[in-house]
Amino acid sequence: MVMEQSERTLPFVLILLGPPGAGKGTQATMLAKARHLPHISTGDLLREHVRRKTKLGVEAKEFLDKGLLVPDPLVLNMLFERIREKDCAYGYILDGFPRTLGQAKALQEKLELHAKLFVVNLELPDSKIIERLSKRLSCERCGAPYHLVYGPPKIANICDACGGRLVQREDDRETVIRARIKVYHEQTEPLITYYRDLHLLHSVDCNPSKETTFEKIATLISAVE
Ligand SMILES: [Zn+2]
Repeated sequence: MVMEQSERTLPFVLILLGPPGAGKGTQATMLAKARHLPHISTGDLLREHVRRKTKLGVEAKEFLDKGLLVPDPLVLNMLFERIREKDCAYGYILDGFPRTLGQAKALQEKLELHAKLFVVNLELPDSKIIERLSKRLSCERCGAPYHLVYGPPKIANICDACGGRLVQREDDRETVIRARIKVYHEQTEPLITYYRDLHLLHSVDCNPSKETTFEKIATLISAVE
């Protein structure tokens, strides 16, 4: 006899949407730890494939070297291979995916009836995005991240960990940030509509602290369990 998979046993898949600077990576890390689920960052996954020179990595590198976006089919292959692994059996947290409507639809087709999707949209006004990103610094020696307001170093411009000099990332300069925000709105707004129409979208104001944002997301999740 074939056992029917009930709602309860379906893998829990959390999708985090939000502008650059909203803290998607931070929330994904906190939620992964709290729920004992793997945190899958498609950016990290891509870098890992490139580093290991896998077939997908070699293909992706050609686009990255030209400064082009890696095409959806490649990203999808990489992700679908990853979520087949054992540690994803009870669910996983996606960070940086989906980025386009095409990716969202492909994921939906793959997971429909096989997983319980939960989409959180981290909301942050453009002025706040600029404020957050323009005050980010990182150590030029070890790469440790800092923020002038949310996580300043103990000594100004010096890395706590290694004593290296703190610098601003090239893509965190204001004109670049404005361009990133524009791309974000163009790409992500259709995703928000898509998930809202599927009744999967939950919006969270992430202007308060990361702890408050985390609590709000946790409360939303427990309400549907
Ligand atoms: Zn350092």
